[in-house]
Amino acid sequence: MPSLPHHADVTAARQLGESTREVDILIIGGGVTGMLLLDRLHQQGYQVCLIERNALGHGQTIQAQGIIHGGLKYALGGRANAASRAIRDMPNRWRAMFDGTGDTDLSAVAIRSDNCYLWSTRSASSLLGLLGARLALRSRPKRVSAEDYPPALQGVTGPVLTMHEPVLDPQSMLQCLADRHHDRLALDEVIALEQKDAGVTVTTQSGLTWRAARVVLAAGQGNGPLRSMAGLDATAQQIRPLRMVMVRGVSTPLHGHCVRGGKPWLTITSAEATDGELVWQIGGDLAEQGVKMTPQDTIELAAKSLRTALPSCPVDALQWATYEAHRAEQSDEDGYRPDLPGLREDGCILTAWPTKLALAPLLVDELLEKLSSPPVPRPSHTSSPVADQATPPVAQPPWEEIDSWSTAPSAGPA
Ligand SMILES: Cc1cc2nc3c(=O)[nH]c(=O)nc-3n(C[C@H](O)[C@H](O)[C@H](O)COP(=O)(O)OP(=O)(O)OC[C@H]3O[C@@H](n4cnc5c(N)ncnc54)[C@H](O)[C@@H]3O)c2cc1C
Repeated sequence: MPSLPHHADVTAARQLGESTREVDILIIGGGVTGMLLLDRLHQQGYQVCLIERNALGHGQTIQAQGIIHGGLKYALGGRANAASRAIRDMPNRWRAMFDGTGDTDLSAVAIRSDNCYLWSTRSASSLLGLLGARLALRSRPKRVSAEDYPPALQGVTGPVLTMHEPVLDPQSMLQCLADRHHDRLALDEVIALEQKDAGVTVTTQSGLTWRAARVVLAAGQGNGPLRSMAGLDATAQQIRPLRMVMVRGVSTPLHGHCVRGGKPWLTITSAEATDGELVWQIGGDLAEQGVKMTPQDTIELAAKSLRTALPSCPVDALQWATYEAHRAEQSDEDGYRPDLPGLREDGCILTAWPTKLALAPLLVDELLEKLSSPPVPRPSHTSSPVADQATPPVAQPPWEEIDSWSTAPSAGPA
């Protein structure tokens, strides 16, 4: 964790009688949910601050592949329900933000790709899955002719489609919002959280006491412990682990899903590391299987899968690493994976789980509605409540945290 403000600074603030801060709304957690909400609340004139204990996006947002899903998963299953209807509008909603015409100006965000590819291995079931994918999407996938395949898909014998699912760079999104709101961000750790006097009192490690009319917990995996601290039910949250794979040594970018058995088997996205190397992040069903295996076995499985899914991929020349990630979601009473964002309202405390980065704008809409009814007070403030606080940095993506990469596992039996 980055260091908190020096104790001497806090003592000085106390001596000035500034150890208590008042805001309309205090957000805890600076991932995609907290940062988009901060932007929208600030635009609406609320006095709002955000406390982050580590680095912005540390956890899911920085580990995400950044795909703005348009409902492929539901389309593959031929499902048309509330979740599929909600998610199919998300690519256009994000596109407006990237153009600077949406609810939040994200025109400075780096877009890794405008589209994702969808391809299958040769099995009949994956082909059926692909055909089913045309059903429930806002914009239909288009067939790509073989001469237009991107270099990474050369040699694929099954069908290749392209679909409107943009891929954003999560770090640049966080940076864009951090630059706009640095005087509303505090690097600090919450040590107590209590509802009292028609509001919430939050005490932090740096010695500050915050008074807020409403508090929004947007802390991802941290929501459970924060709810316990506030005396709320921590079982409202479920944690779903994944083991993601990363490879270096590829020469061309790829963004898309290889479908097998009617679901995304390998989801591959690409990013450039700070040393200029291209890195592929690989998730999908592989990441769900990988969490039940050792990192080395996951790499073996990934190598074997890439040989099948991408015949021209130089698998033996790649370098490999894995990282474990934890999806934090609202727990479903039946133990199923939720499809839509989760929101709990407990008095003056709201707890938010977007379920997907792509769905965060929908969650923010719901939060804004809750926060405006009944409207929270808007006292006039003159100075920034975090002027004497350290600002949290933006988290580094997982490939920047790897010390040593493994060499290619040898080819096993086909
Ligand atoms: C490997 C992986 C890949 C994914 N890929 C995609 C994708 O391609 N597309 C998609 O739509 N979704 C994807 N998701 C899901 C998406 O990343 C999450 O739904 C979303 O990022 C959650 O955002 P959040 O802001 O709620 O939480 P987080 O991103 O987890 O942020 C929580 C923040 O709160 C901070 N925090 C925690 N506890 C405290 C505390 N006590 N005090 C202060 N701060 C605290 C953390 O440090 C962190 O900065 C992926 C998830 C994973 C794990």
